[in-house]
Amino acid sequence: MSIRPEVKKQYGLVPNYINGAWVNSMSTEVLDVENPATGEVIGQVPLSTKGEVDAAVRAASVAFPGWRDTPPQQRVQYLFRLKVLVEEHQDEMARIIVQEEGKTYREAFGEVGRGIENIERAAGIPSLMMGRNLEEVARGIDEYELRQPLGVFCCIAPFNFPAMIPLWFLPYAVACGNTYVVKPSEQVPLTQNRLFQLIHQAGFPEGVLNLVNGAKDVVDALLDHPDIRGVSFVGSTPVAQHVYSRAAANGKRAQCQAGAKNYLVVMPDADLEATVDALIESCFGSAGERCLAGSVVVPVGDITEPLQGALTDAARAMKVGYGLDDSVHMGPVISARHRDRVLAYIERGVQEGARLILDGRTTPPPNRSGYFVNPTIFEGVTPEMTIAREEIFGPVASIMPARSLDEALDFISRIPYGNSASIFTKSGKWAREFQHRVVAGNVGINVGIPAPVAPFPFSGAKRSFFGDLHGQGIDSIFFFTERKVVITRWW
Ligand code: NAD
Repeated sequence: MSIRPEVKKQYGLVPNYINGAWVNSMSTEVLDVENPATGEVIGQVPLSTKGEVDAAVRAASVAFPGWRDTPPQQRVQYLFRLKVLVEEHQDEMARIIVQEEGKTYREAFGEVGRGIENIERAAGIPSLMMGRNLEEVARGIDEYELRQPLGVFCCIAPFNFPAMIPLWFLPYAVACGNTYVVKPSEQVPLTQNRLFQLIHQAGFPEGVLNLVNGAKDVVDALLDHPDIRGVSFVGSTPVAQHVYSRAAANGKRAQCQAGAKNYLVVMPDADLEATVDALIESCFGSAGERCLAGSVVVPVGDITEPLQGALTDAARAMKVGYGLDDSVHMGPVISARHRDRVLAYIERGVQEGARLILDGRTTPPPNRSGYFVNPTIFEGVTPEMTIAREEIFGPVASIMPARSLDEALDFISRIPYGNSASIFTKSGKWAREFQHRVVAGNVGINVGIPAPVAPFPFSGAKRSFFGDLHGQGIDSIFFFTERKVVITRWW
């Protein structure tokens, strides 16, 4: 396995972290990690072997009994240390995210903040994990419920939030007394590598937290491993469905957060300026590569024309480039392959009769070697078009006017996804109607990216989520614990 000299200078070949030690994979299969803004190779990632997955799971299994018996108040001391370490390295981690994922520094810094928020909340586990009791359920008999950890859990992460998404799960899993294995996205392994250096520094006991790099084969090895009790997956819908089915077939718990197609409804009374700001951030922030990114804008009634004009002007004014440049509003998409996929969707929209009013393909990219698509807007989009139904995951917005709120809700009901939906209005009545009827897990009212904070579950409906207990919120405590009921009688 060779590491090119220029790669060594940057991040090199990322090792695995197993049983409290950094170990190089023995795999001969290695992928390059690219900076999507420049196309440069900045590191390499091994596709670890089945044996290495087994070693990580075994280390976690061996660590489990001791960790489970460590009092919760002591377990969270490691999380307090980790929180401080991540805060101290927030700038450095944000820079790594920009280099491997492509989003802007501001977005990356915010992402790390969202991860810290989850470490912080999990540090409250001594209260969050408490059970319940009821005295005298029958004469002389009391009953109580304990919440106990289960064993080894794992996380399979997507590329778009390399720091935050593993932190939606990992802190709660270990705070509850489980042990853990993280499988980062092979496209962005560098941020997790840095996070695990901080985890090492925080002094967690050996085997409590492990990291195995790789792709599909590592995922399948985790799903088939008899000692994995549960899996948290975040990624595209077809893979989520695969993970959910295979985990269930192997008797595991699974929570699988999946793809999205998010609609943004703009009522005639909406505040135009504030709404346009929110739509720009929703549709084009992080190059449209957020699972909560707005994709279809549905103006209702006579706001259509002014909204279309203002949105297009604002999108045209966005500066696209390398996310470490402070003046840049939007970075590249993740890879050449993904750029081509986004461009193919734009072409499909044109072929199906939608009109391009802002063509992100024609403006010269600021750096030709990076994977840039500029903000793109279609008008005249109809519900049956591919660009109205399928997840594009790029900076492409479709405008699909509706005559009424009923019609807008009807459009949303026809799509297979239900990750998020937003309404922009000054009317409480319309907002309540929308919140009541729309089938989506995360609902925004005058909010374009309705991302729940750590005490609330990150929800999802239809083909955007497989399972019942979501990430974050009280769901995470239920997911990572088994409830045991004890019924007592003392003579
Ligand atoms: P992806 O599904 O391609 O990959 C996700 C993970 O699955 C990676 O770790 C990858 O190695 C693994 N994987 C890929 N193909 C596999 C296969 N055939 N078998 C087993 N494992 C496989 O997703 P991505 O492109 O990294 O991320 C983007 C997707 O994630 C989008 O669809 C986005 O909407 C979704 N997402 C959803 C949420 C949410 O909360 N609902 C959040 C972020 C991203």
